[in-house]
Amino acid sequence: MIVVLSSGVTPHDKELIRIYLRDRGFSVRDQIFGDDEVIGASGKGVADLDELGLFPGVERIAATSKPYELASRETKAEDSIVTVLGTPVFASGASALVKIGGSRITVIAGPCAVESRGQIRETAEAVRESGAVILRGGAFKPRTSPYAFQGLGMKGLEYMKEAGEACGMPIVTEVVSPEYVVEMKDLTDMFQIGARNMQNFSLLKKVGAAGKPVLLKRGPSATIEEWLLSAEYLLAAGTNDVVLCERGIRTFETYTRNTLDISAIPVVKSLSHLPVIVDPSHAVGIRAKVPPAALAAIAAGADGLTVEVHPRPDEALSDGPQSLMPEQFEKLMRDIEALAPVVGKELLRTPRAAASRGEAAVELRAPDAESARPVAYNGENGAFAEQALMRVFGEEAPMLRLQSFKAIFDAVLDGSACAGIVPVENSLTGSIHENYDLFLRYPDIAIAGEVKLRVVHCLIGDERSNIDSITIVRSHPQGFAQCRNFLDQHPAWSLEACNDTAGAVASIAREGAVKVAAIAGAAAARAHGLKVIKEGIETNPRNYTRFLVISRKLQVGARAENPDANNANNANKWIGGAWVPPSLGSEKPNKASLVFSVPDKPGSLFACLKIMADGGINLSKLESRPIQGKPWEYQFYADISIPEKEGVFEEVMEELKTRSEDLSFLGAYRGSL
Ligand code: PEP
Ligand code: MN
Repeated sequence: MIVVLSSGVTPHDKELIRIYLRDRGFSVRDQIFGDDEVIGASGKGVADLDELGLFPGVERIAATSKPYELASRETKAEDSIVTVLGTPVFASGASALVKIGGSRITVIAGPCAVESRGQIRETAEAVRESGAVILRGGAFKPRTSPYAFQGLGMKGLEYMKEAGEACGMPIVTEVVSPEYVVEMKDLTDMFQIGARNMQNFSLLKKVGAAGKPVLLKRGPSATIEEWLLSAEYLLAAGTNDVVLCERGIRTFETYTRNTLDISAIPVVKSLSHLPVIVDPSHAVGIRAKVPPAALAAIAAGADGLTVEVHPRPDEALSDGPQSLMPEQFEKLMRDIEALAPVVGKELLRTPRAAASRGEAAVELRAPDAESARPVAYNGENGAFAEQALMRVFGEEAPMLRLQSFKAIFDAVLDGSACAGIVPVENSLTGSIHENYDLFLRYPDIAIAGEVKLRVVHCLIGDERSNIDSITIVRSHPQGFAQCRNFLDQHPAWSLEACNDTAGAVASIAREGAVKVAAIAGAAAARAHGLKVIKEGIETNPRNYTRFLVISRKLQVGARAENPDANNANNANKWIGGAWVPPSLGSEKPNKASLVFSVPDKPGSLFACLKIMADGGINLSKLESRPIQGKPWEYQFYADISIPEKEGVFEEVMEELKTRSEDLSFLGAYRGSL
């Protein structure tokens, strides 16, 4: 049982709670759990929870039926997100910061063992270039044979640290014995507990108290419960940052090195709030079979992977046969990137250009949530836009919830929001013209980035509702349009249009209506404490919404006037004269959006398109829209590629200006897959 204490709890209150629990047969311990101060009570005691709940200083009591209390989802319903922080190395003193869990897929890669200074550096550069965000490598190797290579020890760890710093990647390495914990602590950013040591309880206690995140491998013959109890050892010793790693278990099958227990992923994710990643390399043991197993793990819901990569596997001192060559790893990363949106996630990828400059992985230290200005979106808690926002800016980003798209543009313009996020297009129902029109009305707002979100619709209602009790369904008109086939099966339902899908859910939560259901995402049901009656009701599962990040347009040179650009803690970059968040800004833009009209004479649109074609510019979208106030006149919305070669784009734009009328440049940004 966990007693979560309120923020104003006094030492006296705490002592009374401890005495109460001890008197009833519990052993008690103080603990920090997530953001809360808690008292953990274990043993065979019996307490009256209603009475305990009345003690001053008790915020809530989380009782669990599981032997692993801190690791259990019954104790903490929301996913834990583990942060791994590299040492400060950048000119600004910032550190590479990588998160594991939530809506991201985090890939750790590197050799099985650190073999030399050159080998770890070469591998780090290669995996970094393909988008890995944490470097792995063993300095102390637990080998089955005492005569096999045992690792370079502390020297190896120093080489690895050096390589990680040079590439802006935090590092993870295995600790094989409690005696090394103190010595290794200053050099590694994350400890790995290897499969063979999963039940080395003295090691778990020491590592759990070391103040660094821990990657806990599953033992080759450990049950899921034993594995979670080992995680409990780490959590009980003081850390909150535990990542579980399925790496294959011993079965009767001998073709593969172990048997990857894919089913453990959804099982553990339902039993525990801790992130779960998969090591397909040790699970499968055969190089060619590693990528398909890795993709299966992502499809099954893993939060990431740890993959062995070696520049010359044939020369590897350990696990060469299962180590991917850098080209294979590159291909795997591309496949993961394409697969991720299907499972509602995004690959946390190190932008290529930043990788070759050795800049920070993914994002710099999180912005100070107190002082940072918020990012604006439209909708209620749990809206799709909120998920898109978190995808770009992180779960902790300060957010400003507004009631219309126009209000987002206003907030970004007047500076009450540093950026905003607006949907512009759905893959099934087409453009959201209101937002395109707003870009024209707000010439000082630019596009700074884009994110594509898979939209899975659910029928959501009160705990007491079921499909037969429903007579009314509420949603945004787009929600109805995207679920047409499902709604056609229920012709008696009357449909009520709302401003946004999550708002429809919120209205049911407020009214406690049993006859009314909403169409929205599962996140909205969670946010408002309602039930998912039916999941995946969109007509076509390939249903994606494209959101744009918007910010104030500023001319290059006006930088000094922009408070964001002057803030040393702020890693915002300047792209095309616009402010962009760090996760979007570390790489050169490759996409731009424009609106233009053409003179009313034969071939004038053709002439504009020819200029683009001659400049090698790919046109990914072209849509004509009526010009407001000018009946039967049209303007064109275009999304185009920005060629790699310096200067080509600017030349094409100059020429386009002379051939078109009213050309508005909406922004240059990094396109997402
Ligand atoms: C490793 O990751 O280097 C390793 C030895 O793996 P495991 O402990 O899963 O065998
Ligand atoms: Mn290995």
